[in-house]
Amino acid sequence: MAPRKLAAGNWKMNGTLAALAEIDRLLADHPQPGCDVLLCPPATLVHAAAARAGHIAIGGQDCHAQASGAHTGDIAAAQLVDAGASHVIIGHSERRSDHGETDIQIAAKAVAAHQAGLVAVICVGETEAQRDAGQTLDVISAQLAGSMPEGATAANTVIAYEPVWAIGTGRTPTSDQIAEVHALMRQRLSDRFADGGDVALLYGGSVKPGNAAEIFAIPHVNGALVGGASLKAQDFGPIIAALSAA
Ligand code: PEP
Repeated sequence: MAPRKLAAGNWKMNGTLAALAEIDRLLADHPQPGCDVLLCPPATLVHAAAARAGHIAIGGQDCHAQASGAHTGDIAAAQLVDAGASHVIIGHSERRSDHGETDIQIAAKAVAAHQAGLVAVICVGETEAQRDAGQTLDVISAQLAGSMPEGATAANTVIAYEPVWAIGTGRTPTSDQIAEVHALMRQRLSDRFADGGDVALLYGGSVKPGNAAEIFAIPHVNGALVGGASLKAQDFGPIIAALSAA
């Protein structure tokens, strides 16, 4: 089994019910895409989005490690499932920086996601200072080792490589830099997991219609996690098309 191709959108803290019209447009423009498509709207929109998403999968942007309890403001993985989600982003760099999430916490959240039946989209990525210091491969190796639980499989886990300095900045690594990290991730996953060669590896960080095809041509890039350009169907649609054609 080859890794499945996935175009994933992360709406972050953007959008109200009116934004769901973008899903209708995507469905109309891409009735049969040649890749999997996932949108992760804010938690308030997961249920309504799932009700109209057709072939587009809907995911959350975070979940708690516990199944229930006194955790004000948090969301359990089973609650996302109940709302219609099939995926959840775990360990996004904004969660790591805004909420101080550690690899250990992220692995625990991934376990919770798996137990609830969700696919965990686990994010890793170096800061600009770490890249400048030549630490990128060590940082990614450590994050992968620490954030992926033992029960991870190609069916329940997707990895997104998102350099922190490329998110929302309009800056992207060179193709060689992306290729180097993705080759490392594939090797690490194959070393550790029986089906590590089949885990989908996404690139994320300022993916746009104009650079998507070039990025999708890089070895071991099986798709993208897209922030800003996933908010509008007119931007996300061409990215879906580029991945379908890759
Ligand atoms: C992201 O938030 O995961 C992301 C990649 O954002 P952007 O595409 O806006 O850089």
